[in-house]
This record gives sequence, C-alpha cells and structure tokens, in this order.
Amino acid sequence: MHAQVIVVGAGPTGLMLACELALAGVRTRIVERRTEPQRDSRALTLHPRSVELMDLRGLAPRFRALGRTVPGWHFANLDTRLDFAALDSRHGYTLFLPQARTEFLLQERALELGVEITRGYRCTGLSQDADGVEVQLRGPGDRAETLRARYVVGCDGGRSAVREAAGIAFPGTEETLTGVLGDFAAIDADPSALDAARAHGVLVAPLEGGLTRLVYLDPERMRTPSGVPVTLEEFRTSLTRICGSDLGVAEPRWLSRFGNATRLADSYRRDRVLLAGDAAHIHFPAAGQGLNAGLQDAMNLGWKLAAEVNGWAPPGLLDSYDAERRPVGQAVTENTEVQTLLAELTLVPQYRRPAAALRGLLNDLLGIPEVNHRIAGQVSALATSYADPGADAADPLVGRRMPDIGLIAAAPAATRAYELFSRGHFVLFDLAGDTGSGRTADTEGDARVTTVTVMRHDDHPELDGVTEILVRPDGHIAWATRGTEPDARRAERDAALAAWTGVTREVAAR
Ligand SMILES: Cc1cc2nc3c(=O)[nH]c(=O)nc-3n(C[C@H](O)[C@H](O)[C@H](O)COP(=O)(O)OP(=O)(O)OC[C@H]3O[C@@H](n4cnc5c(N)ncnc54)[C@H](O)[C@@H]3O)c2cc1C
Repeated sequence: MHAQVIVVGAGPTGLMLACELALAGVRTRIVERRTEPQRDSRALTLHPRSVELMDLRGLAPRFRALGRTVPGWHFANLDTRLDFAALDSRHGYTLFLPQARTEFLLQERALELGVEITRGYRCTGLSQDADGVEVQLRGPGDRAETLRARYVVGCDGGRSAVREAAGIAFPGTEETLTGVLGDFAAIDADPSALDAARAHGVLVAPLEGGLTRLVYLDPERMRTPSGVPVTLEEFRTSLTRICGSDLGVAEPRWLSRFGNATRLADSYRRDRVLLAGDAAHIHFPAAGQGLNAGLQDAMNLGWKLAAEVNGWAPPGLLDSYDAERRPVGQAVTENTEVQTLLAELTLVPQYRRPAAALRGLLNDLLGIPEVNHRIAGQVSALATSYADPGADAADPLVGRRMPDIGLIAAAPAATRAYELFSRGHFVLFDLAGDTGSGRTADTEGDARVTTVTVMRHDDHPELDGVTEILVRPDGHIAWATRGTEPDARRAERDAALAAWTGVTREVAAR
C-alpha cells in the first residue's frame, strides 16, 4: 500500500508527526537517512506542554518512567528560576529526558500505530503536481528511488533538503557565537569544583549510563565556527580558563560545537509540502526549547493534515498550521536571541559590569510572581494560544489550551479531561450537564467528536459560567460558550462543529 503522507526525518518532530497521522488513520511512511537511531542526545528536556501532549495521548507514564523531573527551569541561566510548579498544569516540571530516549519512545509508539520507517534513505529532491508529490531518494549503495504521496512533510532538521527543494526561503542571521558540549564517562572533581564551574556558567548535568554532560561558552573561543571539531585538549583548556580546573574530564563519548544561527522559514507550507521542527526554525539552544517546539508543531499539524487527507478538512484548516505555528516559531527564536545576547554581553570584557547589573535587574524582575509566570508560560509553552485576533466575538478561552480539569460524574466515565483525547478526536464538553442525555449517535460525527457530559468539575475559575467547550485534537479550545438558553446554544454549537469538524449534521441533537 502506498503511503498517503511521507515524513522526511525520524527525529523527534518527524516521529511525533507520524504518530499523530497514523492515529488518525493516515498511511504514513518516514524516510530517514540514518541507518540507526541517534545515540547521542542534543536535547535533554521536555517542558510542561510537551509532557501534556504525551498525556493527551496516554503516553505520559512511558515518558515519566524513563525521565527525571526537575521542579523548574531557567531563562538565560538567571539565578531566579522559572517556577513551573506555579503554572496550572499537572506537569509543572521539566522532564529531564535525553533526546535519544524521546526518539526511542516515539519510534516505539509509531511502530505500534503502523508507521513504516525506512532507514538508510536520504531525500535529495522533490517535485509536486496537482495531486501529489514525488520524493527523490538515495538509498543503500547510492541507489536512486522515487516515492509518491499526497503530501510530504520536511522534518529533516536545520539543513532541510525538503525546504530547499520546495524553494522555501530560510531568512535569518548567521552564526556569530558558539558553545561547546562534552559527554564524559569519567570526571574527577569534588563537589566544590563542580559548584565553582556552575557559578561560572558551566552547565553540569548527569546523564544515564554514568555519563556527565558539561556545556560552556568560552569567551576566548566563542567565535570559533561550529564546523571546527572540538578536541579533549581544547575542552580541558577552556574549562581551566573558565573555572580554574579541568574537572578531571576524561573518556569523552561526544564532543560538539553548536552555534547561534537563527532562522525562520518564510512559510511552513508550499502547496503539498510542509515543514516542521528544525526544518522550519533554528536558534541557539537557550532554555532548551527547539525539540519542544518541534513536538508542538507536529501536534498542531498532525490532525489538520490528517483531516485534509481523510477528505473532511474545512476550508483553510491546513493553512492555519502556518498561521498558528509560525508566530510561535518567531517568538521562540526571539527569546533565544535575548538569552544569547545576555550571555554574550556577560562574556565581553567591556560589557561585563553593566551586563552583571542587567542580570541583577532581571533576577529581581523574575522574582515578581506575575513576571515569572509570564516567562514560565512562554518557555513551558503552556501560554501558547492560537486565538484569532480578528475574531472579536469569540470567548476569551478560544485558542488557549484546555486545562486538564478534574471531572466529577462525567459520562462517558472519565476522571480528568485529558483522558478523553487518547484517540485524537475533538472533545465537546457539556459543562452545563444538561444537553448530553439522549444525544443521537452519528457515526460520522462520533468518529471525530467525543461528547462528554460533566456534572461538575474541579476548581478552574476561568471556566466559571462556561456551559460548553469544543476542544481540538491538539488540546486547544476551538469554541466555547457561556450561553444558557438551550436552543440558542445548540445553534451556536452546530455552527462551531460544522466550522471545525466539517460535521454538518446535528451531532449533538437531543
Ligand atoms: C547542544 C544542543 C542542546 C539542545 N538542547 C535542547 C533541549 O534541552 N531541549 C530542546 O527542546 N531542544 C534542545 N536542542 C534542540 C533540539 O536538539 C532540536 O530542536 C531537535 O533535535 C529538532 O528535532 P527535529 O526532529 O525537528 O530535527 P532533527 O533532530 O535534526 O532530526 C532531523 C532528522 O532528519 C534526518 N534527515 C536530515 N536530512 C535528511 C534527508 N535529506 N533525508 C532523510 N532524512 C534526513 C536526520 O538524520 C534526523 O534524524 C538542543 C540543540 C543543541 C545543538
């Protein structure tokens, strides 16, 4: 059977997207140039919204079992930490989970859902016509092959061949600064030396298998291009310069230099070709947001592309992917630029004093709960909203993520909202508890919309007075009403269902 969608790249974004497509019944094939999964992990973190995404699909226990929770996170490495625990989420923490583990878990899930993963094939080009896309590949022995599908998604990283072949521009700024990371099987340093390293801005993180990751910016070498390999000698010299000791690092498993080139694709879609993850946005890994943003791109795109392939997408739905996710990509690139600038100023001799004063000021500001909450909302991605600024009449909840409210006496039985999203459907919450009984079954609608009647829910003041909420498969609120008059509400609900789910018959009729 031919795939309906080809995903290029089996990194976290491609794997997540393939899972979402397959969940919606789309025949999906990933082509990946590597013959084996990646062993080294660039990213180490899943932030709250990403863990929530896993929770929506019933996967959070798998991820939590392999990771370690840390209570908050940082912005620009400031001493005042971001308080994720204060955010309205059951997952108000950072899940410390190496990227290779995230990929392993997503690949496991993709295979369970029937995704075909073809390794050892590199995309070299593509061409599209009115009905589909042809993807040119080079396989083992440099053999040329062509695959055809209705859509292709480039999840093939910052140097995306798909982006290039589709002619999508990738404007932004060149690399001006680089950092260095090393994963070591052996380090010989006492706790006070490690504390001193941390105090000088060196990131020290224990990894699985007894490895320790160290990451630093060396003022003397931070202009070295990322293409120049890192040697153990350089690592030791830099550490000694930064914190007075080389920390006894030995047996490096991975040494890498990474830069701050910052770019955002001009568009996330060209006809039948779409981009997600690093293929669409690259930036310095400040506060660990790139992988998280890629997972969230995939969650936004998956159900929309599936709706298009399955033939029920309302007009404009697929284009809303670019409209919703590109501004988020832009915001992430901008906040990493702010963080990188702050780091750089701290290292340049003539700015060191004012930079320290600036950091002091920002530390104080982050101590103000409202400020902390705002930045934490952005880095955790819990504050991401897809509200349409033109839709004045919409309820203020529209576009925001649905909180995982506790449900009391819900039918069908569920104890919390996120349990209802495991099949990737829309969920219509009847919070007035008065319209659910006697709904007629509608097979077409039921395949897309799960309706739940809730007699009561736990304390969420922002939902006071809300009588119905329609939530998209990615957990964002499509429509909400505070109406109390049943007939008017039904008319509003049917219009929302038609606009979002394409179901025109009265799904929720009494
Ligand atoms: C030092 C460092 C630390 C980081 N730490 C964090 C962190 O803590 N948290 C975080 O959220 N992010 C972090 N990031 C960013 C994160 O690693 C990336 O954003 C993430 O890997 C992007 O995932 P992706 O799937 O979009 O792309 P990639 O992970 O780059 O995956 C792309 C895949 O496509 C394949 N591919 C490429 N070209 C082709 C082709 N032509 N044909 C077929 N296959 C192809 C590649 O082999 C690869 O498997 C960090 C980055 C760096 C450099």
